[in-house]
Amino acid sequence: MQKRRIVIIGGGFMGVKCALELSRANLDNTKIRLITDKSNFEYHGALYRLVAGKSPMEVCLPLRDILDESRVEIIIDKAIAIDTKDQYVTGESGSTYNYDDLVLGLGAETNYFGIPGLQENSWGMKTIDDALQLKKHVIQTLQMCPAQDHAERTKALNFVIIGAGPTGVELAGELGGYAKQLIANANLDPNLVNIVLVERSDRILPKLHQKLSKKITKRLQKLGVDVRTSCIVESLENDVVTLSGEPLSSSTVVWTAGVKANALVDQLGAEQDRMGRIKVNQYMNAPGLENVYVGGDIASTQWSGMAQTAINDGVFVANAIRRKITNPDSVARIYSQKEPIYAIPAGPAWSGTQFGKLNFFGRTGWMLRRLVDWVVFINFLPFGKAWAAFRSHYHVQDDNTC
Ligand SMILES: Cc1cc2nc3c(=O)[nH]c(=O)nc-3n(C[C@H](O)[C@H](O)[C@H](O)COP(=O)(O)OP(=O)(O)OC[C@H]3O[C@@H](n4cnc5c(N)ncnc54)[C@H](O)[C@@H]3O)c2cc1C
Repeated sequence: MQKRRIVIIGGGFMGVKCALELSRANLDNTKIRLITDKSNFEYHGALYRLVAGKSPMEVCLPLRDILDESRVEIIIDKAIAIDTKDQYVTGESGSTYNYDDLVLGLGAETNYFGIPGLQENSWGMKTIDDALQLKKHVIQTLQMCPAQDHAERTKALNFVIIGAGPTGVELAGELGGYAKQLIANANLDPNLVNIVLVERSDRILPKLHQKLSKKITKRLQKLGVDVRTSCIVESLENDVVTLSGEPLSSSTVVWTAGVKANALVDQLGAEQDRMGRIKVNQYMNAPGLENVYVGGDIASTQWSGMAQTAINDGVFVANAIRRKITNPDSVARIYSQKEPIYAIPAGPAWSGTQFGKLNFFGRTGWMLRRLVDWVVFINFLPFGKAWAAFRSHYHVQDDNTC
């Protein structure tokens, strides 16, 4: 009898969690394949620290460390086409992968909303590659400062971060301290470093409690960040970013403000929301495609866009497939939304954390943030490796050179 083929695409929070759970279920006569375009799992929540010279160990977890003991076959390939009629996926390598059940955890892509010059000239913050390139650029830019004239140096020391969601806030809080340290090493005044955080809404972290926004704004201002709300980026050309009509010269503009679903999901032909995410049904299927499951950032659910949601989705989908195989006559469970914990660091050892209706700030918030980090690591790694990844937070990787 032919084995039942479960194909999972995407080696991120959703895909890997689903693969782990399916492997643990020890299903007879099934073959689980994880197709992903990278050999590492990326913990995005710690990317901002990588930009500021911290160890990549915390961010970059080899898939083999996670799945070595499992029954999952890892295939490094980029899926480029999905045929839902004949049930196969085509990879960039030319290989095809037939499936009986398909799980999609493809994650999000950057959305530049067509703002002139932004895609070509801004720095991204979505992947380890983005973070490492940005770090290298920051170091190189600051190294040139001592030999520059006033105008060039001002441009080099203006760092503009667009988007005051969690990513923008985390980066703004960390980058200032790092840039100041580098510039002081070059015997220049650290106060010349200017971090500008730009937000279109009338407050930072607009999706979170107002109190949290206020406290974190104050904290960032204390760290010297210039927080500009109700401010719109209009263009980025020739190292000049125009913010609500005002030009600002800057060598470093980081775009963290827009995401959309991975474009591969367009091929499903299922209904999508304005961010391109699939409007999944209550079983996390793409409507009309009972054996295609969609989760994480590409599913249009209330708390989509958060790692904790993607982990929950991975568990839910694994359970749904397991039930279908082991107990097909039972009633299928219905997806339920779970509000994630938002833990937003703003500078070293300080976090604003929203846990349901409760808010925590400062050191307490930070300890909760570290707890969230730990939960992520222990969800994916065996205890020893999870502890090593957790501890690596305290390692400075860097000699501040490129
Ligand atoms: C900078 C940053 C900070 C964040 N901080 C937090 C935080 O603190 N807390 C929180 O809860 N959430 C945070 N998030 C959000 C969180 O990372 C995402 O919600 C989560 O990664 C979504 O999981 P996913 O599995 O849907 O996608 P991902 O984790 O992005 O995984 C998608 C995977 O699919 C692979 N892939 C993509 N296309 C293909 C293809 N065609 N073929 C094969 N493989 C493919 C990708 O390489 C990747 O491995 C942050 C995100 C960013 C960018």
